[in-house]
Amino acid sequence: MADSLQRHLEQFKNFPHEAKPHLHVEPICDYGWLVKPKRTAVALPAGKEIGLTLMGLTHGNELAGAAVINEVLAHLGAGNLALDIPVAIILGNPWAAKENRRFLERDLNRSFGRDAAKLKEEIRAKELSPILSTTACLLDLHQTTRPSDRPFFIFGYNERNYEFARAISPRLTIVTHWGKPFSSEGMCTDEYVIGKGGTGISLELGQNGFDPYQIAVGVEACLWAIRVATAELSGESIAHRAATATPDLYTWAEIMNWPVKGYVELRDGLNNFAPVNAGDSLGRCDGEPIRAGASGRILFPKYLSKADQDKLTSRPTELCRVMKAISPTDLPTIKHPAS
Ligand SMILES: [Zn+2]
Repeated sequence: MADSLQRHLEQFKNFPHEAKPHLHVEPICDYGWLVKPKRTAVALPAGKEIGLTLMGLTHGNELAGAAVINEVLAHLGAGNLALDIPVAIILGNPWAAKENRRFLERDLNRSFGRDAAKLKEEIRAKELSPILSTTACLLDLHQTTRPSDRPFFIFGYNERNYEFARAISPRLTIVTHWGKPFSSEGMCTDEYVIGKGGTGISLELGQNGFDPYQIAVGVEACLWAIRVATAELSGESIAHRAATATPDLYTWAEIMNWPVKGYVELRDGLNNFAPVNAGDSLGRCDGEPIRAGASGRILFPKYLSKADQDKLTSRPTELCRVMKAISPTDLPTIKHPAS
């Protein structure tokens, strides 16, 4: 795994960016390329210089993102795609990836929109912020810690985000939420892009690792994202593609906090999308049962060994989330915070 990652990081760094007939390719940051068409009729919205940003390795141990990003970059570089918008291609946290860790000092995906710039990820967030703030559309690639029975989009709900996801991969499950930020710890990439007037969504491919099925899903989503972003920025409707399928749609029913004290032991088998009923025991805290407060499906369960819990300097925020299935008519009317 370390070998494949090393290969991917080198491949990304050594991407041949000499002059090409129809494209400009230039570095936009460390581990970031900007690929621009030399001529285009597509005008970006005011204040935006990048039509689409594709990001992988925002969390260092979510390795499939590096493979997806390199494959998309290779297609762009080879001129296999008719490119009409500037596309930024970024590896978010390759330094954490080299250590197969989610992050080194602070979760990069909770480090946007903050003033602090002392910790490694805070500095990286500061470096990426000008790119994301001038990005019209963002697709950020992630993987889950535990197995997932499917890939899924996840984002804060607004109509533009929803349309974007539906047009990219009409069949993929969508997990969406509204009313509160995703996490109380800091802003994610997609929330930051939305706050700057853009469209921003994340795609969870499945359990972390170089899984070829997941990589294929990610590459397909990125290629469609280029098409969909181009259509949207050209003023074409993208809704017709979404109409080809009805995906599963979920939102939180409950966010279960990590107990304030005691040794926490989740029971086996609580993978992403595992069904649970309200009152079911999800595990134990110092021997006392932890019960689901709602019925639905599990998301982002946090399993930590006794040794890992003993080592913690601060306790995790969340134990897991329980999601409920909803239908499109349950979605609120949120056009876009900036429109
Ligand atoms: Zn992630």
